[in-house]
Amino acid sequence: MKCTRCKQKAVVALPSHNAGFCPSCYLEYFKRQVEKAIKAQNMFSFEDKILVAISGGKDSLALTLQLKELGYNVSGLHIDLNIPESSAEVRKTVEDFCTLQSIPLYVLEMKKEGLSIPEVKKRLSRPICSACGQIKRYHFNLFAKEKGFTVLATGHNLDDEVARLFANTLRWDIDYLSDQGPVLKEEQGFVKKVKPLYRLTEFETANYAFLKGINYSYKPCPFSKGASFTFYKKLIASLEQEQPGRKLNFYETFLKQGQKPFKLAASRKNSPLNACSRCGYPTSGEICGVCRIKELLAC
Ligand code: SF4
Ligand SMILES: [Zn+2]
Ligand SMILES: [Zn+2]
Repeated sequence: MKCTRCKQKAVVALPSHNAGFCPSCYLEYFKRQVEKAIKAQNMFSFEDKILVAISGGKDSLALTLQLKELGYNVSGLHIDLNIPESSAEVRKTVEDFCTLQSIPLYVLEMKKEGLSIPEVKKRLSRPICSACGQIKRYHFNLFAKEKGFTVLATGHNLDDEVARLFANTLRWDIDYLSDQGPVLKEEQGFVKKVKPLYRLTEFETANYAFLKGINYSYKPCPFSKGASFTFYKKLIASLEQEQPGRKLNFYETFLKQGQKPFKLAASRKNSPLNACSRCGYPTSGEICGVCRIKELLAC
């Protein structure tokens, strides 16, 4: 196969775009997809102070590097979950990457916050991933607000977004569907959140990471087994195999036609948020979810 742009030998085939690319044209393609996402969704400008949530996986590292190379003002925040089987190795990967790329990095240790994830797992009856996600979102938001960042960027890719949309649609979950999208604007104590990789698949970010020589963490979280998104991703991959381009089309059509009605329905249904009586974080109840977890751990 020949490169669609320069006619040299292609190394990456992208059936969904009916294209193939040589290494340098692939990197150009990747960069343009990120630029297109930022512009189409009005994500941020060169004046913004951007905090990237860096987990240490290929997506968050690829995003950080691409934004830096585009000239944006980026810093990283890594959350050390204190999981013995993975956290130390993942943290080292993130620290090495940021040192190599001269990107300012902050690290928050959940053990110091009294929220060591294995401890939370032991004490909580609900699935650990939902609590862990809640704890991470809380700290990313709080940290961004406290340090004066104007935007929080995450490395969610098209596969993540489509699997989530699919799961939310199966349940017709108005609240989650109203919150789904590559941009969540700043409101009620929440910093603006963006997902500049939403047009790119997991395969595409893995290719970018490989071609850029990014050393990312392969260490899986020991608690990740059996996550329902993994199953949905497999289903969606078979659909994409049969109908190349279906994933992006499904997601973009939702953004054009589905997002607004769900936002409207959720705003009619839900009352405005209050400040948590313990920590001030926006919440629908009196005490926020993270303070409730802390309370449980203190018993
Ligand atoms: S897989 Fe591990 S790191 Fe990811 S949300 Fe679940 S517990 Fe947290
Ligand atoms: Zn080329
Ligand atoms: Zn609270």
